[in-house]
Amino acid sequence: MRKTEKPIISVSGIRGEIGTSLDVRVITQFAMAFGTFVGGKTVVVGRDSRTSSPMLRHAVLSGLFATGCHVIDVGLCPTPTILLMAKALRAHGSITITASHNPVAWNGIEFAAASGNLLTQTERDELGRIYETEDFSLAPWDAQGTLETHEAAAAYHLEQILGSPWLEIDLIKSTRLKVVIDAGNGAGSVISPLLLRELGCEVIELNCVADGHFRRSAEPTPEALDELCQIVSASEADIGFAHDGDADRLVLVTERGVPLNGEWTLAFVVDLILGKTKGDVVATVSTSRMLDDITANHGVTLHRTKVGVGWVVEKMHEVNAVIGGEGTGGVIYPNVHHTTDGITSIAAIIEYLAESGGTVTQLVENMPQYQMRRKKLEIPSQEVATRLVDAALAVYEKEQNAGTASILDLTDGVKRVWDDRWVNIRKSGTEPVIRIFSEAPTSEEAEQLCYETIETLTTLMKQISY
Ligand code: MG
Repeated sequence: MRKTEKPIISVSGIRGEIGTSLDVRVITQFAMAFGTFVGGKTVVVGRDSRTSSPMLRHAVLSGLFATGCHVIDVGLCPTPTILLMAKALRAHGSITITASHNPVAWNGIEFAAASGNLLTQTERDELGRIYETEDFSLAPWDAQGTLETHEAAAAYHLEQILGSPWLEIDLIKSTRLKVVIDAGNGAGSVISPLLLRELGCEVIELNCVADGHFRRSAEPTPEALDELCQIVSASEADIGFAHDGDADRLVLVTERGVPLNGEWTLAFVVDLILGKTKGDVVATVSTSRMLDDITANHGVTLHRTKVGVGWVVEKMHEVNAVIGGEGTGGVIYPNVHHTTDGITSIAAIIEYLAESGGTVTQLVENMPQYQMRRKKLEIPSQEVATRLVDAALAVYEKEQNAGTASILDLTDGVKRVWDDRWVNIRKSGTEPVIRIFSEAPTSEEAEQLCYETIETLTTLMKQISY
């Protein structure tokens, strides 16, 4: 197969399609750059279940050994487990081999710093500079890197989760919940059923063989969860759970077999945690406004950040938040580690359900009701997208000066906020598209907000020359 495209280099690492845009050379080069970046010290390496992950692992090990690093390989693990181990083992950084929710043919590597968090902008710039200039600190023959394997990563992660102050294991055990877990043949295939059994649940496993042959999309969208929904209702289970490929996300299916998007995972968990500990909450600008209502009910502050886990984590540290996350189903639990953690989310949702004594449908009905819409508009180039967002901002500022009821929030792109609805336009960081997200009390109103916004953008595009 010819190499046709370039891999995507983003804030967290590098991703591409195996055999076309991503190969062993670029991975080895990046691993050498990272080994140089950490000064040839200790690096934790772990991988998801993809069939290409062993190949990437060897490339990563080569690059790290060449720069004199001591590698602690934690094996096939969810991304949150790998990041947790980097912190627990006091490594100087970690490389996670995964393409998260991307299609099965994709793979990639993600870097984290000594803290177990994603790299900061300064750190990314430095790593990028080493990679671009090939300024590698190669170790001589007598100082090559070494390998150590660590088998107990999952056990350590489970121990941390089960020690959570918000978890009442006896209460959960007494409710004897029946649960279907769909790990999508990804990295959560082993640990999540184990956790559920530790919590005394009756467990039905679906797609829990971590062989990298994904029997559904690695992204747990409602459409991808047909089989899970059917099994939940046919088996009269209390709840269904689904992970993405590297299990940093969790989405839910109600006892009636209705799939819920990731906004619900975060909303339920925020309500659970605030019921136990009052403190600040952090979410992105495009996360559901259910969170505004929930945090107001609990009398605490909600901080909103740019879209991306790194921004949420940074803000959580800054305000010492008790919980945070994204509407994709990625929730961050400071008591375990500052990274999105789909495994801990299982424990939190089980706790929330057990405490309620009711059904998932009832939990949904007890929440403020909004509908979200997500659209995207293809733009000729990223440069045009930037100009278009600027042009739209000028229009909305003029409207605001004329006294309309919306408030403009420029945290990420342009978000227009009313009392009970909002619409956000943002350009993508990786492709020439503008994303339009809206939320309103009814789906018709949310649809209308998206439609009006697309119309404004389309009109403005005709006025931009490119
Ligand atoms: Mg993921």
